[in-house]
Amino acid sequence: MMNYRPVKAFINFEALKSNLKQVRAFAPKSKILAVIKANGYGHGMTRVAEQLSMADAFGVASIDEAIKLRHKGFLHRILLLEGLFCESEFALVIQHRLDFVIHSEHQLDWLMRLNHSQPLNVWVKIDTGMHRLGFLPEHFPKVIKKLQTLKVQPNIITMSHFASAGESTAFTLEQLDCFNSLTQGMNGAKSLANSAAIQNLPAAHFDWVRPGIMLYGAGDLSTGQQLSPLKPVMTLKTEVTSLKWIEAGESVGYGQTWKATKKSFVGVLAVGYGDGYPRHAVSGTPVLVAGKRVPLIGRVSMDMITVDLTDLADSVQIGDEAILWGEGLPVDEVAKHASTIAYELLCGVTARVPIIEV
Ligand code: PLP
Repeated sequence: MMNYRPVKAFINFEALKSNLKQVRAFAPKSKILAVIKANGYGHGMTRVAEQLSMADAFGVASIDEAIKLRHKGFLHRILLLEGLFCESEFALVIQHRLDFVIHSEHQLDWLMRLNHSQPLNVWVKIDTGMHRLGFLPEHFPKVIKKLQTLKVQPNIITMSHFASAGESTAFTLEQLDCFNSLTQGMNGAKSLANSAAIQNLPAAHFDWVRPGIMLYGAGDLSTGQQLSPLKPVMTLKTEVTSLKWIEAGESVGYGQTWKATKKSFVGVLAVGYGDGYPRHAVSGTPVLVAGKRVPLIGRVSMDMITVDLTDLADSVQIGDEAILWGEGLPVDEVAKHASTIAYELLCGVTARVPIIEV
């Protein structure tokens, strides 16, 4: 199918592979479980998995994602990060040799009832403070004891997840202390670090690190300071599709939220919230048009945004390239202007946007 509409997501797999190497450089002693759930954070899960074949395992959110990988021939360990949603999934877990998380009593009960003859890789999740998934610290020893009564001894990997590894050092250290005190003296493997902790907290690396956002070159804690060795993988591009002058005092777009303070040259770009560009992006959100930073003006529409091109009026033309995020414009920066995070923008690119590999 031809795609005449110019909005496209360009995916740079060299950048993805380079980011995987950076994970290894940050955590050289740990195995890497590459988190590729949610369609590889919006980059296309199976192609991402192919490019990350050097990872030691993959992390997904559902059995459907895991089976899709198996059907594509991946033999890696695959972890169901949220575990099983219903007991009947166990047949598929065993058939496809999947690792799974257990985080709650009901999942433990399902496992204890399971009549299986092969050792399973069971990731036991402790709730060290995030209070989302995981066994509370006081219940954890009992969970381990119970698992040890299984007919076939499971390979237990103990894990937890940070609530704000990128934001609160004090709380993150509390979680790390809690994890250390509960797992001290345990033989099995341990896993704690997501991208932020991989980059900032070597004491949390343990046996397995679980990078997600950093593989895609985002979630960068040093945004704007050019310090990051990570490279953006997705660049969302479109083109200028309309140009016109408006007079001072005239408004642009739905709700008339932006008014020209002087005679202004308004450009229309073919991208909108129907493509995953965030509707909450405010006037002033940066966009790169023909390589220059210009501000978004007015509200984001379903299929279009408007930008102030007054400074480029002498040179800009219909068909000029516009970059919404990616190469030259960090997705984290755009996300901040829309009061959200890079994860949401990357995962939110909609199905009508073609993914082009570069
Ligand atoms: N580990 C778990 C349990 C997760 O749920 C996630 C992502 O949500 C990750 C690791 C990866 O986190 P990040 O993308 O911040 O590296």
